Amino acid sequence: MTSKKTENLSRRELLAAGVAAAGAVSAASAMAQQAEGQPMPGGANLPGLESEKMRWAIVGLGSFGVNQVIPGFADAQQSRMTAFVSGNPAKAQDLGARYGVSRFYNYQNFDDMARDEEIDCVYIVLPVGLHAEYTIRALRAGKHVLCEKPMASTAAEAQAMVDAAREANRQLGVAYRVHFEPNNRDAQRRIVAGELGTIRHISADHGFSANPEFPPHKWRLERLLGGGGSMYDIGIYGLNTSLMMLPGDRVTSVSAAYSTPAGDNRFNEVEGAIEYRLRMASGISVQGSSSYCYSPYVSRQRYFGSTGSIEMQPATTYDNNVIQLEAGGAPRTFRSGDPMSQFAAQLDGFSRAARSNTPHLTPGEMGLRDMQLMEAMYRSADAGGSVVEVDIAV
Ligand code: NDP
Repeated sequence: MTSKKTENLSRRELLAAGVAAAGAVSAASAMAQQAEGQPMPGGANLPGLESEKMRWAIVGLGSFGVNQVIPGFADAQQSRMTAFVSGNPAKAQDLGARYGVSRFYNYQNFDDMARDEEIDCVYIVLPVGLHAEYTIRALRAGKHVLCEKPMASTAAEAQAMVDAAREANRQLGVAYRVHFEPNNRDAQRRIVAGELGTIRHISADHGFSANPEFPPHKWRLERLLGGGGSMYDIGIYGLNTSLMMLPGDRVTSVSAAYSTPAGDNRFNEVEGAIEYRLRMASGISVQGSSSYCYSPYVSRQRYFGSTGSIEMQPATTYDNNVIQLEAGGAPRTFRSGDPMSQFAAQLDGFSRAARSNTPHLTPGEMGLRDMQLMEAMYRSADAGGSVVEVDIAV
């Protein structure tokens, strides 16, 4: 017997097998204020989605959008796609034919979405340097917006996005998918319930090797489009996931040091690596590293408590997160659920927030908080590692 879930998973697997990463960026550099588009990725044919769900426009049909966001709709119960926004009409139409999406916009007529009643929610999956501009335009067009991480290039931009949402009376979320991932949710539940006793320390290490020849990595190495370096792109998982485990705490100080390899020409515009420490009002520290120079891919979270510990490695991937728990009895390794469910869960979570016009689980304010913390890291690292005092609620 084929269950609905199994059917959906196999559709997703079918798609993942067929879709290649997006191709070369055309004249991407120094164009942070003007979106352009990329060539068409290939892929498998999929049926359309049913009606009576919140209707989404996907903005930016690149690697993550095509390979993760769009397939995530297959399992969504309250969300469906009605529009694509792309600088490449052929790619958009090809994907539209596969997914039953027939409304198309580009970066020039983007604001016309204000008159389109078939769009409730807009998902910004653009390079970071474009997040603020297109988020604010979508909010002013009357749409609810889920924006990819990191929220923006600066905390000031993030604040402007939060303000724009308030002015428009629309919901703004930041796509921190880990909050919807079953293993991380289980770790959070165990930590908050005291299964590790009192948390004493958290460490987080995240990184991969950046390849400037690969278009989705190329813009990440440019200040205007990337906003910042490895911390913005991959270290943010460690920062955000660590704080997810410490509800109610406050960050009181931040320190950091760059650890970019000397003479590595990939990192002329953004930092290649950074190590950081947050001091919390509870007395504990969160310590982490982020790098564009780790290989193979690193995604590791460790939570040390007074009576137990959890290690997650990998911790924040799309499909392979596990928990290693040592808290009385024999240490054990397990999975609490299918990590791939995080994509649909995030979409449906935001659809519910938009429908009721109540805050998303990971709202714009959380993205703003993380921008403030990352800017404090850069201030500390720029000053040689000196401690930057802050008072930022988790
Ligand atoms: P890609 O480069 O693969 O895709 C970005 C897309 O943005 C392009 O394909 C293009 O789409 C559009 N675009 C518009 N203007 C430009 C421009 N000047 N230069 C480059 N692209 C442009 O990047 P990713 O998909 O990897 O990342 C997109 C966003 O998703 C980022 O914010 C990133 O941080 C986030 N992300 C999140 C992940 C997560 O796990 N939450 C994982 C990976 C990425 P088109 O041709 O359709 O116009």
